[in-house]
Amino acid sequence: MCNLMITRRNIGKLRTAVVMTMLFVVAASGVQASTPLIELSEAEKQWLKAHPSIRLAVDIDWSPFEYVDDDSNYVGMAAEYITLVGQKLDIQFDVEKQKPWSEVVESVKKRELDMFSCVVATTQRREYADFTRPYLSFPMVIVTSDQVAYVNGIRDLRNETVAVVRGYATQDLLEKNHPELDLYLADNVADALEKLSHGKVYAYIGNIATVSDVIRREGLTNIKISGETPYNYELSMAVRNDWPEFIPILQKALDSISDQERDQIYRNWIKLRYEHGFDYDLLWQVLAVVALVIALILFWNRRLSNEIGKRIEAEKRVQDAHQRLEQTNQQLVDYVDIVDKYVITSSTDKRGRITSTSEAFCEISGYGQEELIGNNHRLLRHEDMPESIYQELWSTIAGGKTWQGELKNKKKNGDFYWVHAYISPNFDEQQKITGYTAIREDITNKKRAEELSITDELTGLFNRRQFNQLFPMELTRAEREKKTFALMIIDVDYFKPYNDNYGHQQGDSVLQQVASALKDSLRRASDFAFRIGGEEFAVIVTADNIEQAYALAEKLRCAVERLQLTHDHNPASNYVTVSIGLKTHNSGEDQPAETELIYRRADDALYQAKENGRNQVAVQRQSAEVQKLGAAGT
Ligand code: GH3
Ligand code: MG
Ligand code: MG
Repeated sequence: MCNLMITRRNIGKLRTAVVMTMLFVVAASGVQASTPLIELSEAEKQWLKAHPSIRLAVDIDWSPFEYVDDDSNYVGMAAEYITLVGQKLDIQFDVEKQKPWSEVVESVKKRELDMFSCVVATTQRREYADFTRPYLSFPMVIVTSDQVAYVNGIRDLRNETVAVVRGYATQDLLEKNHPELDLYLADNVADALEKLSHGKVYAYIGNIATVSDVIRREGLTNIKISGETPYNYELSMAVRNDWPEFIPILQKALDSISDQERDQIYRNWIKLRYEHGFDYDLLWQVLAVVALVIALILFWNRRLSNEIGKRIEAEKRVQDAHQRLEQTNQQLVDYVDIVDKYVITSSTDKRGRITSTSEAFCEISGYGQEELIGNNHRLLRHEDMPESIYQELWSTIAGGKTWQGELKNKKKNGDFYWVHAYISPNFDEQQKITGYTAIREDITNKKRAEELSITDELTGLFNRRQFNQLFPMELTRAEREKKTFALMIIDVDYFKPYNDNYGHQQGDSVLQQVASALKDSLRRASDFAFRIGGEEFAVIVTADNIEQAYALAEKLRCAVERLQLTHDHNPASNYVTVSIGLKTHNSGEDQPAETELIYRRADDALYQAKENGRNQVAVQRQSAEVQKLGAAGT
C-alpha cells in the first residue's frame, strides 16, 4: 500500500509529491517575497568587478536539475537559478558544456573551473570548495523492481547490490554511513535505472526528482519507488575555496530570489507532466489528494521507523548501562577485597562493641574475626596507653567528630603494635550516631625506630636526648597544673673502684640493675627515669609537694641499696649505693622556671650529697641553700 508504482499514469502523482515537498522546503526556508535588491559592500563590488566571468561546473546530464539540451543550451532548475543570480550580480557564467560530471569535478579541484551550480555539500567536496546554504531539497528514495515488496529503509538492502551514480553525493554518503551495502557505481541515473530494470542490480538510491524524470523519459515501467531513506538531497552552489569572498555574495543573490521566482522555476519544470492533454484541473485535484495520502504514508512510515529506531536505541542503552553496572560491580568487589586485605579497619556499635573487622585487622591483632565480633574494643588496649587518651578519643567521636592519633594496642599473644588511627562516627538518616568506624595505619616500625632513638641501649631507660626533650615539657606541665616539679640527679657511689675490682662487665650489670630498681620504684605516668651519663641517672616527677618528692628520692636510694649488690670498696655501705641531688620547683611560689638553673641546682645538691658521705639525698631549695632532709642509710 505504501508502494508507488512508477508508470506513465502515475508519474504525475509523484511529481505532485515532489512539488509539494519542494514548496514545503521553500516555505520552510523562510524566504520572503521581496524586491531583488542586493546590497553589496564596496569590497564585494570590487571583487565582482575583478571577476566578471565565472567558469561554471555543471552536470550536463542531470535533468531536471540541470543538463545541456540538444541545442547545447544549459537548462534545468539550477540553470534558471544561475540565470537569476547572474542577472542580480551582473556577472557572466561561462558554462562548461562538454565534460562529464567526473571530469568537471576534477576541473574544479584543479581550479580550471570556479564554481558548481548545484551540488550536495559532502565532506570530500568541502576540502576544495565552500558552499552556500542549500537552495533545493529533495528526498532521497529507494527504487527497486516492482516485484519487490515494500523496502523499509536502507537496512533492508543489506548485502544487496545497490546502484548509485559514480561521484554523486549518494556514493560518498552511502560508503561512509552504510558500508554494509554492496555498491554498483553507474555512469549516470539512466544507466543505473536501466541496470535496475534489467535485474542487474537490486535497487537504486537517488533523489526523487531525477528518478521520476528518468523513469518518465526512459519509459521504465517495471520499476517503482519502494521506500525512503532518512536523507535529503540538499543542493547548494559551491565555489573553489580560494575564493572565500564569493560565497557571501552568492548567498545574498540566492536570498534575494523571491518565492514567486522559485515557484516559477518549479512550475517550468513541472509543466512537463501536462503533455498528455488530460483535464489538467481534475488531474491536479486528484494528484493533490494522492500526494497528500503519500505524504501521510511517508510521514507515518518515518515515524514508525523512528519509533523502532528509538526503541532499539533505548534497549541498547539499557543493555549498555547494565553492562557498565556489571563492570562497576566487579570493580567495587575488587576494591572491597583490597580494603579487606590491606586496610586495618573495624566498626563498632555506639558502646564500642565490635561489629565488623577487616582481614588486615585480624592479622595485626592476632585474633580471629569470630573472637573480635561482639567483643568490646577495649580488648585491644595496651596498659602503656594512658586513660586520658581514651577519654579524649571518646569525647571527640561521641561529639560527632573524627579523632585521630597514635595508639599502642595489644595483640592476642601479649605483644604490642602501634597504629595511627582515624575514628569517625557513623550516622543514620536523622544524623544520629549509630556506631563508629576506624581505619588504621600500622606504625609499629616507626614507633620502634622512635623508641630506639630515645632509649638507652644498656639499661632500657630513656636516654639523654629524651631527657632534654621531656625536661622542659614536664616542667611546663607541672607549672600549668600547679604541681611541684622535681628533678633528681642520681650517681652511683664509688663506681670507678667497683669497675676496677669487679670488672667492667659486672659494672654494666650493676648499671642495669640500678636502672631496673629506679624504674620499678616509679609507678605514675608522670614519673620518668633516664640514664643521662655513664653511671649517672636522672628522674623527673610531678609531685604534690616537696615532701612527697623527697620521700620518693629516698625510696629510690633505698631501692638501690636493697639490691644488695656487694661492693667491698664502698665506704658508705657494703653494697652498691647511690647519692641523689634533688631540686624542686613550685609554680607560683618560685620564680619562673629555667631548666638550666634547675639542672645546675640539682647537680649542686648531688655534690653536697657526695660531700656529706654519699648514699644519701640532698635537696636544693629555692634559696640555693642545700638542705639535707634525711639521714644517710636506711
Ligand atoms: P663517686 O662516688 O664520686 O661518684 O665516685 P665514682 O668512682 O663513681 O666517680 P667517677 O666519676 O670518678 O667514676 C665513674 C666511673 O663510672 C668511671 C667509669 O669507670 C664508670 N663508668 C662510666 N660509664 C660506665 C659504663 O657504661 N659501664 C661501666 N661498667 N662503668 C662505667
Ligand atoms: Mg659520676
Ligand atoms: Mg659515681
